[in-house]
Parts: sequence; C-alpha cells; structure tokens
Amino acid sequence: MYYGFAAGVDSKLKASKIMRIKINEIPEQGLELNLDIPAGSIDVSDIDEGFLGDVRFAGNISVSRRRFTVSGKMNGLWNLRCARCLKKITSPVKSTFQVFLTPSIPPDENRIRGLKDDDMDESVLIGNEIDMNQILREQMILHLPMKPICSTSCRGLCPHCGKDLNLGSCGCDATPADPRLAKLKEFLDRKGE
Ligand SMILES: [Zn+2]
Ligand SMILES: [Zn+2]
Repeated sequence: MYYGFAAGVDSKLKASKIMRIKINEIPEQGLELNLDIPAGSIDVSDIDEGFLGDVRFAGNISVSRRRFTVSGKMNGLWNLRCARCLKKITSPVKSTFQVFLTPSIPPDENRIRGLKDDDMDESVLIGNEIDMNQILREQMILHLPMKPICSTSCRGLCPHCGKDLNLGSCGCDATPADPRLAKLKEFLDRKGE
C-alpha cells in the first residue's frame, strides 16, 4: 500500500488526513509513506516561530508482532533567531531516524509479561493511531540548535545601546572591564588619597 500526495491546492486537507494513521489499516507487508507536510501544519509555536517551509518525510511503517517501526528520512527547516543579533535565520534539518512503537497494553498484562531491557527505547502507542505529526515534531525538536547564529563572525548587539554591531560600531565604550586592572586602579586610587 502506498500513501502519498503531491503538493497541490488541497495538500493541506490531505496532510491533515494523512498525519494520523490507523494501526488496523496498516497491512502486514507495511506501509510506504511519502509526506509533504505544508509549513505550519506541525505545531511548534511553543518553540519559536515554527517551521518556515514544508517538512518532507520519505519512509515506511513496518509491522512485526504487533510492533510498529517508523523509519525514513526527514527534511525540514527551522525558522529561528540568531542568539547574538536576533536576526531571523533558517536552519535546515536532515534526519534519518527509526521510531519503535508498541501498542499500549493494560497495566496488569504488562506486569505479567515483564519489561525487557530492549523495550526501553520504545515508545508506547497511545490509542490506535500513529501520529506522524507528533513523530516529526519530536524529530525536529531533537535537531533544534542550542545557540543558532546567523554567522560565526556575527558581532551581536551592543550590550549598552543595543545597536546591531554587524552594521557598524556605535561609539559606546567597548573595553571589557578587566577585574585585574580594576584592582590595580583601586590600589592606585587609594595610594593617591
Ligand atoms: Zn547574528
Ligand atoms: Zn552601543
């Protein structure tokens, strides 16, 4: 079975339909996925400005003993602000990943069965749907840059007047206060009293 669609006028509608895949509709031989998710369909409003562009995913869902494996390649784009000068920047994300999902089982059954060590990196599937939106959101967040910068040579903002120093200097005293010099000045000042 093949799920996929080309970007078009109704891609948003199709995307919202396709983002949740009912596990009882996944055939034994697995499901091929080719998703082109329009910008803004994955909610990352709690992070920064969300995605700038489409997020693409090409991969598949395979089934083995009621366990589902989502694997494939994701391409996305973070829309962020430079940590130094606050300018808007985009940061491409490429990720090849594999996510294991086990349908949730009642707690007592879980106890009888016992949890093996290799169950630890599995996610428990809540409900009877695989939420691709959620999986891709997690992957994007995993690749969120800690300190995005527009360029390694970005000079940032002046801590005194806030001017973007990439556009030129501002005339503020940029000499960093050296604690050793401050001590010496203090000593000399006292000597002169
Ligand atoms: Zn910058
Ligand atoms: Zn300044």
